[in-house]
This record gives sequence, C-alpha cells and structure tokens, in this order.
Amino acid sequence: MHTSSDKPIRKIVIVGGGTAGWMSAAPLALKLGNSCEIVLVESPEIGTVGVGEATLPTIRYYNLALGLDAVEFVQKTQATFKLGIEFKDWGHVGNRFFHGFGDFGPSIENRSAYVYWLRLAREFKDIPSYEEWSVASAMARKNRFVPPFGDTPGPTNAYSYAFHFDAGLYAAFLRDYAMQRGVKRVEGKISAVEQHPDTGFITAVKLDDGRRVDGDLFIDCSGFRGLLIEGVYQAGYDDWSAMLPCNSAQAVPCAKAAKLTPYTTSTAQAAGWTWRIPLQHRTGNGHVYCDAFTGDEEAGRVLLAGLDGPALDAPRQLRFTTGRRRKSWIKNCVAIGLSSGFLEPLESTSINIIENAIGWLIQYFPDRDCRPELSAEFNRIVSQRYEFVRDFIILHYKLTDRDDSEFWRYCKHMPIPDTLRQQIDMFRENGQVVIYDPQGFNASSHFSILMGLGVVPKRYDPLVDLMDLRQMQLHFAKLRESITQAVGAMPDHADYIARHVAAPPMPPMAQ
Ligand SMILES: Cc1cc2nc3c(=O)[nH]c(=O)nc-3n(C[C@H](O)[C@H](O)[C@H](O)COP(=O)(O)OP(=O)(O)OC[C@H]3O[C@@H](n4cnc5c(N)ncnc54)[C@H](O)[C@@H]3O)c2cc1C
Repeated sequence: MHTSSDKPIRKIVIVGGGTAGWMSAAPLALKLGNSCEIVLVESPEIGTVGVGEATLPTIRYYNLALGLDAVEFVQKTQATFKLGIEFKDWGHVGNRFFHGFGDFGPSIENRSAYVYWLRLAREFKDIPSYEEWSVASAMARKNRFVPPFGDTPGPTNAYSYAFHFDAGLYAAFLRDYAMQRGVKRVEGKISAVEQHPDTGFITAVKLDDGRRVDGDLFIDCSGFRGLLIEGVYQAGYDDWSAMLPCNSAQAVPCAKAAKLTPYTTSTAQAAGWTWRIPLQHRTGNGHVYCDAFTGDEEAGRVLLAGLDGPALDAPRQLRFTTGRRRKSWIKNCVAIGLSSGFLEPLESTSINIIENAIGWLIQYFPDRDCRPELSAEFNRIVSQRYEFVRDFIILHYKLTDRDDSEFWRYCKHMPIPDTLRQQIDMFRENGQVVIYDPQGFNASSHFSILMGLGVVPKRYDPLVDLMDLRQMQLHFAKLRESITQAVGAMPDHADYIARHVAAPPMPPMAQ
C-alpha cells in the first residue's frame, strides 16, 4: 500500500505576494513547519491589486487558526469593525436596507425568527420592520460596537462581526508572520516556466535576471493574469459578464470622516455602485461600474463627488472580467485568489474565497504525485463556491425596481441562472429561503436582500400558525425591548476603538 509519505512535498513555490499569496503562505508555514520549504516570489515592478478592504466574519476564524493576536491585528492593519453593509438606492432611488451579520432574534422551535415575523406582518400592518429585531442593524443605526458576549446565543448577542482593514498592511502583517516561520521571499519577475517533459508538471519558474526557483507544488497567486494556471495550462475561464455586467472599478482613499461607521456603505449609481469603507487612518472608496453604460471620466466624477473628506490620491483604474477559472488545480499547480476567479466586491467575498481555498488545499494536501482525485474534488468545491456567491450577488441587481438608467433596465431584464430563479420564486410564493451552500450566506442574509429589495412573500410557513398569535406578539415586543436596551448601553464604535484597539498614527500619504 502506498502512503502519502512515500513522496512528500519538499518544496512549495507561491507565485505572488498580494493578499492571496501571503494568506496562503501563513497557514502553510504554520501547518507544515520545517517539513517543507516554502518560497514566495513577488514582483514589486508588477505590484498588487491592493484593494480588498472589507471582509466577512469568517476572517476571524482564519486569524484565530493562525494564533494572531486580535488587538495587534487590528492595530497593525488600521482596522475597524464591520457589522454588515448598508445598501442605499438599490431597489429604487431612496431605498435603504441593511444586511447585518446575524439573525433576527433567536430561532423559535427550530425555525428562523423572521418566519414568524412574516406572519405578524400579515396580521398587523403597523408592525415595525424586521430590521428592528436584528441586533447588528440596531447597533449600526446607532453607530455602536462591542463584540458579542457569552457563548450561549441569546436575544442580544445574536450578531457577528468582521473587519474593514488596509489590505496592504494585512498582507505585510501576514508576510512578517510567514517569514518568522521560515517562508523565504524572493523578489523578481517571472519570465518563463519549466515543465517536466513527460508529466507536464511545473518544475521551476525562471526570473528575468536568470535565477531559477524550483519546487514540487506551485501555488498561483499571480492575480488576474493567472500566470501559471492560464499561462501554462490554459485552464479556461467562464465569463459571467452577461449576468454581472460590471467590468471596471476606480478606487481612491480619502481623509477619515468624523463618523466612524461600523459598517460598509454601498450606494447604487447610474451604472454600478460606490463603496465606502471606514478605516482608522482613512476611508476607502470605490466605484464599480460597467464601461458599456458609463465612461471612465464620468465614473471618476461620481466617485469623487461622493467622498466625505478630501481625496488623498488620484483614483486608481482597475479592469476585470467577472467569472471563474474552469479549473483551479491542474497537475501540481493550484490557483488561489484572483488567478482562480473574480466576483465584484459587493458582498466582500473574495478574501473569504481565499480563506476557503487555502483551507481546502490543506484538507486535500497532495504528495508529489498530485493525484487527480484530489484536484478533482478541490475543483468541484471551488467551482461551486463561486457559483453560489455569483447567484447571491446577482440577486442584488436582478430584483431592482430601478428603471432610471439603461444599466438598471438591463439588470432587471437580464437572464439569470435557474438555481437563482428557483430561490426567488420559492421566497416570493412561500416565504422560504432555499440554501444551496450551508457554508455560505445563510437564510437571514438572503432574507435581508430579498425583503430589502421589496420582495414580499405571498404566503408564510403554515406551521407558524400553530403558535398563539398573542404569545407571538408578546415575544417579539419583549425581544425588541431587550435589543433596544442592550444596544443603548453599548459604546460608540469610535470610542470602543479608541479605548481598546487604537492604531498608531500613520505617516501622511503622498498627495
Ligand atoms: C475593485 C476591487 C475591490 C475589491 N474589494 C474587495 C473587498 O472589499 N473585499 C474582498 O474580500 N475582496 C475585494 N477585492 C478582491 C481582493 O482585492 C483580492 O481578492 C485580493 O487582493 C487578492 O488578490 P491576489 O493576491 O490574488 O492578486 P494581486 O493583488 O494582483 O497580487 C498578484 C501578485 O502576483 C505577483 N506577480 C504577478 N505576475 C508576476 C510575475 N510575472 N512575476 C512575479 N510576481 C508576479 C504580483 O507582483 C503580486 O504580488 C476587490 C477587488 C477589486 C478589483
């Protein structure tokens, strides 16, 4: 019988030192220790995408698995806390809703609390919005933050949180971590790749100054270009622009605003949307748009007009094609990060997919043979994850009632995947949320977007009628009262940061 230890991986080469490269290097260094050499090649000449500032709560588990000090992490990355996303003008101009991390109260008889709210809303026309029962929404409305307390889920700790951080500082923080654990960093530009003549496995990358870096396993974190996965193996790319037409972005930091919001803001614009991400030292801003519906100059003007402080730099132009690499793992090459696909940052999912991908690589870690069963399974789950996230993002566009621009009229009438159609129909007809990906966005997240965009279900779960209506009404009233009281006693987000995790001042940015 063969064991994996017959041919253990002796050397890993990570190509790219952006967020994906260092996020891959750190856990591999921790897991493999001295058993395997790890080299990361990056090119300052090419640089990194450098954006990617909003995350999902899972980033906390990634950090925890590395044993990072939570306070040091916040200070070193100029991070703030994120309770969710405020969406403005998405369903129609003037529409506002919040997608918070957490539920709308503890579940009742194993059913999500919002299912019961739907009945109350049917019975009582003046019932407050379901958002009143989301602790995260209530905190965001009042600009409060404190981490949830206690291990037992209760009415006032039914929320979670993530971070906004400076992507460059996060990569640098992980770089120090990885290098302290033995990862070697090579600076240089890869200009050629060597392959084994029989197997086609990559044997080495060659730098333009003649240096050669050999290895057994190559992790392609080279960004959109997919230097190895596409450049060497022509993995192919599924282009999803027909369903997610945005293909451009401009990003610009501005001076920090007086109000440090514990959430990201996403405001729909005539041909896309703008983001606002508050950090301790500055605010990150960007405009994601489709260049078939607006020009770059106009997009830049919209971005700069919406800043809440003076711009600290000129807007940076980015282009992308939304979609997914057909295979992320081929032979001894595994693509992680932008090299494996890209979905616009509307729900801050790219870093989350990086966390997942590195976790799955460690789960299905190969020996030097890189058995095809391992790569097939990895490719299956990565592909699925991209599809689930894609559907969730399309939902935001498809359900709009906006018809004030060609872009929104296109989104309203564009074709969507059957899986998403079934999700929308199920909710509209029955008030039930179909979840295809138990590890992805949960039912409360889908509920927030569907309801926020104005989909009111025709029916609700009939088993909810088994609960006495008066009892239900009292339960919800009491719950709302506890949430209001608990949130009222929480500290302001900026005060919480100043008291517990304030970062040292940063040198001023070049103007
Ligand atoms: C507009 C925009 C906004 C975003 N916002 C968010 C967000 O809020 N949240 C989120 O989760 N994600 C976001 N993302 C995605 C996020 O930025 C990326 O997932 C993340 O930065 C990972 O990028 P990367 O490391 O894969 O690629 P890159 O940052 O492009 O890094 C590529 C690396 O490869 C190296 N390289 C390339 N070619 C060579 C070569 N020939 N030789 C040597 N080295 C080479 C480069 O030097 C670089 O180090 C956003 C993306 C965009 C475009």
